[in-house]
Amino acid sequence: MVEDQVFAGIRATGRQHIGNYLGAIQNFVALQEQYPCIYSIVDFHSLTTLTETDQLANNVFETALDMLAAGIDPSRTILYTQSHVPEVAELHLILSMVVPNGWLLRVPTFKEKARAQPDNVNYGLVGYPVLQTADIVLYKANKVPVGRDQLPHLELAREIVRRFNHQFGETFPEPEAELTSAPAIVGLDGTNKMSKSLNNHIEIAASEEETTKKVRSAMTDPQRRKRDDPGRPDVCNVFALHEFFDPEKRPWIREQCTTAGIGCVDCKGLLADAINDSFRPIRERRKDLEDGPDRVHEILAEGASRAEVIAKDVLAEVRERVGLPSRQS
Ligand code: SF4
Repeated sequence: MVEDQVFAGIRATGRQHIGNYLGAIQNFVALQEQYPCIYSIVDFHSLTTLTETDQLANNVFETALDMLAAGIDPSRTILYTQSHVPEVAELHLILSMVVPNGWLLRVPTFKEKARAQPDNVNYGLVGYPVLQTADIVLYKANKVPVGRDQLPHLELAREIVRRFNHQFGETFPEPEAELTSAPAIVGLDGTNKMSKSLNNHIEIAASEEETTKKVRSAMTDPQRRKRDDPGRPDVCNVFALHEFFDPEKRPWIREQCTTAGIGCVDCKGLLADAINDSFRPIRERRKDLEDGPDRVHEILAEGASRAEVIAKDVLAEVRERVGLPSRQS
């Protein structure tokens, strides 16, 4: 029986925020207990939306720092930079020959991105799902941690695999979703998903003071104008965030909020303390890694070497399947 293999890509967006942590990274860490895992910091993908790339290498490094600090264990998990295993680009090219354009042009995220950057609707943006599929099948991964909202993307990867297997013979396993509880974390503005570009986020690496200051700026129940007004916890994002960092206190906060027993300032202070308590060990590990950056580069290089061993084998099989000549022939 083929051993399960988990693969996930993480965008090279630099310092990760608590939404990234709660929505993805903590699941990646947990999955190491169950499966062999390969995690790729997908810098090629970043090129589809970046016009200025001077920070890209640093963003890869910062992303790696956060993942390692959060608990990705390089002694058992492969963590590497996507472009350091260039076999993925060749596999992407080969897969692109079997994917009808229509499949890609109908992808909602392509349409959204094309609307968001009308002056830069590049070829890579259209082929993004093909590269994502290449990322996964380059390791014959059969499990991909995703939230429910990402299931359509994985379905497209499965369609591509089915089409390739049908055309060239059974080569890749159809990747399955390893469904994770990936809550969409609302940002401090209380309306949009937490995002660096909207500056409504708290970085994992933020200092305790920065965290407290950011939490103090968070939107609460807009109808609670005075300290004596009872609040509505169910419309308050501060209350929602308590669920992730101090769930046991939530019933008490609900009761205090609805009876005006606690003010928003104190409630935010409790949240800031809970976030800081929760991230303190991660931040300490991050600091240690920052002090020895060579170790992070070594981990990524070792990860790329281990990934490349698998990738070369799979790519050799794919080349043979599709009829490309070997160098010897
Ligand atoms: Fe939100 Fe807390 Fe204020 Fe209630 S007391 S409105 S839960 S910040």
